Amino acid sequence: MTEPNVPYSRGPVVESKPRHSSRTADGRLKIAPTTLKVYEECPRKWAFEKLARLTYERGTGQVDGKDAHSHVEAYLVDGVTPDESTFAGRLASVLIPHVPRDSVTEEYVIVDTGSPLWVFHGYVDGSVPYVEVWDAKFYAPTSVKWMVTAESLRSDPQAVIYSVAKSAPRFVMHYVIKPKDRPVAHEWAPGELDAQLDRLDDLALQMLWHLVHTRDANEVPHRSATACDSFGKGCPYAAHCRLHYYGAPTPWTLGR
Ligand code: SF4
Repeated sequence: MTEPNVPYSRGPVVESKPRHSSRTADGRLKIAPTTLKVYEECPRKWAFEKLARLTYERGTGQVDGKDAHSHVEAYLVDGVTPDESTFAGRLASVLIPHVPRDSVTEEYVIVDTGSPLWVFHGYVDGSVPYVEVWDAKFYAPTSVKWMVTAESLRSDPQAVIYSVAKSAPRFVMHYVIKPKDRPVAHEWAPGELDAQLDRLDDLALQMLWHLVHTRDANEVPHRSATACDSFGKGCPYAAHCRLHYYGAPTPWTLGR
């Protein structure tokens, strides 16, 4: 087999929130919605991140989003008005009028589906328990085409897991693309969340199988037909992927 023309590198661990163990007290793996989402987009892309431990530098839009989240949380928890001299502060100011006043923010949750091997976990941006879960993503105007739709929220791992965690019949994704908030919402039908959780359990089982049995990310099945071009700048791991690595340049900066 031909070797990749770019060596694997290990990415730094960056924690912006309190660190939680990657396993439960009884040894089950904690799986985040973003991990499930990446696996669903392309299992091999997931393998480059989790088996080969590659990372890549996110765009500035997502970095600004982290800061904007902090502004929103400071406002809801301590009443601190966002500093609008910063881009992140201005993004937060767009979102704040749309957030329910009685929201609980930045809550760590675990969803146990009964598997002996894993649970799902993550931070809920905000929720009004039994009413609504909301999440906010902050993007540059050029990113409009990557927004989720009401239809895609139906199977979005984050929407499913957080709605189950908060027993919420409604999930709202606020896409803040300055100067507007563009909310996208989905109301769960009876039984829909159960069916989606079953689907996520199937994905988790596949991931665990690969973690135990697969050593080379290129042995993991790919979803090239839909995934390779669907990340804006192209897949950040294309230069490592057996499908593309014959001299493919990557516009991404890989972490080490
Ligand atoms: S280049 Fe395409 S097939 Fe390969 S890991 Fe990336 S998305 Fe998957």
